[in-house]
Amino acid sequence: MGLTGIQIFKLLPKTNCGECVVPTCLAFAMNLASGKAELDSCPYVSDEARETLDQASAPPIRPVAIGAGKRAFTIGGETVMFRHEKTFYNPPGLGALIHSDIDPKALDKKLKEWNALQYERVGINLFPEIIALKDVNGDSTAFADAAGKIARESEFGLILMSDNIDVLREGVGVSAFKKPLLYAAKIENVDEMGVLARESNLPLAVKADSMDQLIKLSDKLTGMGLKDLVLDSGARELKPLFQNQVVIRREALISGNRSMGFPTITFPCEMTANLDIETVIASMLIAKYAGIVVLSDFKGESLFPLLLQRLNIYTDPQRPMAVTEGIYEIGGPDKDSPVLITTNFFLTYFIVSGEIEGSKVPSWLLIMDTEGLSVMTAWAAGKFSGEGVGGFIKKCGIAERIGHKRVIIPGYVASICGDLEEELPDWEVVVGPRDGSLIPKFLRDIVK
Ligand code: SF4
Repeated sequence: MGLTGIQIFKLLPKTNCGECVVPTCLAFAMNLASGKAELDSCPYVSDEARETLDQASAPPIRPVAIGAGKRAFTIGGETVMFRHEKTFYNPPGLGALIHSDIDPKALDKKLKEWNALQYERVGINLFPEIIALKDVNGDSTAFADAAGKIARESEFGLILMSDNIDVLREGVGVSAFKKPLLYAAKIENVDEMGVLARESNLPLAVKADSMDQLIKLSDKLTGMGLKDLVLDSGARELKPLFQNQVVIRREALISGNRSMGFPTITFPCEMTANLDIETVIASMLIAKYAGIVVLSDFKGESLFPLLLQRLNIYTDPQRPMAVTEGIYEIGGPDKDSPVLITTNFFLTYFIVSGEIEGSKVPSWLLIMDTEGLSVMTAWAAGKFSGEGVGGFIKKCGIAERIGHKRVIIPGYVASICGDLEEELPDWEVVVGPRDGSLIPKFLRDIVK
């Protein structure tokens, strides 16, 4: 469990030298306790104190980084049971299974298809991260060929799955640069798997038949010096898997059980042959603490809702989602195209930009930073006033890109019209519709 600021303070040098950027050791201790400072910022901590503090300040669920490049991701690092208590930080990686005896051409096809499954939402590109390559026949050459191909020719990360240590070793040999997850240390192979993971400096999954066994394996591997573990409770039925997921999270966060302080890996692909049911199970696992969810395939109709669900759960509930302030071009506008302005609340942006797109009237959309507040809320909070909007229009650079001086403001803030005209005396301010659905007709009438 974490130490309090006072407990940490007792372990610090108490010289108040200020080199950690705060003026006193006590202030530094308080920052450390609340996670706002790093222990390394103090160069004078004794080795003994460092060991104690390192252990005490370690996150209750270790963050584990997997993969390299664009689709690299980190799992674990969570601090709460429920998202509304604070936030969830690291979204689970979504993976799909490939068998090692796959024909190289079929593998090429799959990689191409899976790579194309990317969706843009709220300015974020959503995609799955990882491929689980499962050894099905002990053929280390075929396994290594497939692993090498996936590692070299795709952006996907890898889970190397085999019970045969030699097969895994071959896979590691060709894909270690992609930082694959090794799967899995079990009771019968824990020593050799631990050695392989330690030698190759790769994260290691641990699979057990029971929670007691999982704790024993986890303790054994951490005793061997391994830090980056991913837990598989072994359950392949919905109820026990759900229970295990909750127990592992509770043990780590509430009981401070270090043996359980790791992210988990789950396999809906091994729980049903029906894609719809598999998708529902995956959905439950995204909500209930999975670090990695391995599907039997990436299909748009299954993947897209899971990506959206993941996005929704892993956004900070205390911070409104916002888009970046700036000038957005919709439909290839030119100097005569209408200019509309609204706030940077992401839902507002998507509704307005969607309606403009639907109108087929090329337009400029100015998005003003209102800290993610919607039009009415921003106006009530004084963040979308005539003065503020006018100042933004002047500085955003839209005047240099158009041949007119007319701006359309949201109908809900018609009251800022007077102030805005004062701020922009040579501009015409037009009050747009209140309802987004009326924007297409409004724009078409304007350009007529
Ligand atoms: Fe204290 Fe260390 Fe900060 Fe100096 S650098 S004020 S010794 S905590």
